Amino acid sequence: MFTPMDAVLLSIGNELTLGETVDTNSAWLAQRLAEIGIGVLRHVTVADEIDPIRRQIEMAAADAEVVLITGGLGPTADDLTRNALAAAMGVELVLRPEWVERIRVFFTGRGRDMPEANAVQAVFPVGSDPIENTCGTAPGIRALIRRSIVFALPGVPREMREMFERSVRPELASAAGGAVLVATVLNCFGAGESDIGEKIADLMARGRNPTVGTTAKQGIIGVRIHSRGRSADEARELLERTEVEIRRRLRWMIYGRDSETLAEVVGRLLAAGGKTVATAESCTGGLIAQKLTDVSGSSQYFLEGVVTYSNAAKTRMLGVPANLLAEHGAVSEPVARAMAEGCRKASAADYAISATGIAGPKGGSTDKPVGLVYLGLADAAGCEVTRHLIGRFLDRTDIRERAASIALNRLRLRLLGEPGEPSR
Ligand code: AMP
Ligand code: MG
Repeated sequence: MFTPMDAVLLSIGNELTLGETVDTNSAWLAQRLAEIGIGVLRHVTVADEIDPIRRQIEMAAADAEVVLITGGLGPTADDLTRNALAAAMGVELVLRPEWVERIRVFFTGRGRDMPEANAVQAVFPVGSDPIENTCGTAPGIRALIRRSIVFALPGVPREMREMFERSVRPELASAAGGAVLVATVLNCFGAGESDIGEKIADLMARGRNPTVGTTAKQGIIGVRIHSRGRSADEARELLERTEVEIRRRLRWMIYGRDSETLAEVVGRLLAAGGKTVATAESCTGGLIAQKLTDVSGSSQYFLEGVVTYSNAAKTRMLGVPANLLAEHGAVSEPVARAMAEGCRKASAADYAISATGIAGPKGGSTDKPVGLVYLGLADAAGCEVTRHLIGRFLDRTDIRERAASIALNRLRLRLLGEPGEPSR
């Protein structure tokens, strides 16, 4: 059984714990480690205090084969990483005169004298190895604590990245023995996170490789698969097996993978079938048309879109009968139907999508609450209108966004010949 290497990432600095600077170093490092098959157990952010840093280094070294520390290597009194590291190793700090010279050369190369404070950057825990910094003054430190390898890198992102690529990645990649961690996201729409979670609960069990987890954003449920293997081929093969199983269970719920959008998938299906679409929008204000036309090549299948916000425009441009509007109101099943049918007739498109609803935050009533949206989908066989209560807890932007996604997803399911989600 392949036992992969794990890392703990420590970022040091009051500016980070206070939330003034966002920790971008850990995110960047975690992605680089994934490329060489090293997983990350946790990201820890610690203030500039020697004992808390020491404790975190000790805990990290107890849990992981690799510990990466960024920050706290500067020349000032609040830079305590080297002291904390020495304490965690149980050793003294020593001045390495040859490194004072290197730092001095860095300054003279820029026409400056080295401030005496910078000499502290040439102090290292006994038994550790300095790592050259080619774009700043702070050398890095490589040390061993029991069976863990520890790297302390500068906090400045540019210096940290350069040092990682040059001096850390090669050693870790070779220690990881060519292992890789590959990832993919299967994007789902039209089912809730708990429904999806239930269908794949066994695959989401902890301790499995690949690991499977879900995330939710704007109604899109991402099923994330992370697979680790001794080689890229092994990792990909394991990932693929899990992906096939997830696809078998979730079927039509999955619309695409990684960064693929609903509009891209709809566009591909329309183009493949030589079909066209047009839109008639009220509450979404053109968002559905925008999403469709965000896709390069959409002129092949997108014919036209109208934003008919007023009742008069719905009548004049789509032929929605005035008495229908008077009787049922603009946000109603019959009006959504008349909009889609009118749009299909006017555009001669194969499919016409309509949207009418209450995007809020004002304008809701008991009968027609904020978030009520009717979506029409007309084709040669007729027109189907679905009613959606998108939710009054969402804001205007989110309600419109969600309505547009539901409309595109309905067209996707129609093109696939799937029954689709029930309306509410
Ligand atoms: P230090 O090495 O602690 O002196 O950090 C130098 C500078 O690098 C800080 O002032 C921050 O602006 C930046 N920095 C330190 N740690 C991080 C981090 N984890 N993510 C992003 N920037 C950082
Ligand atoms: Mg600092």
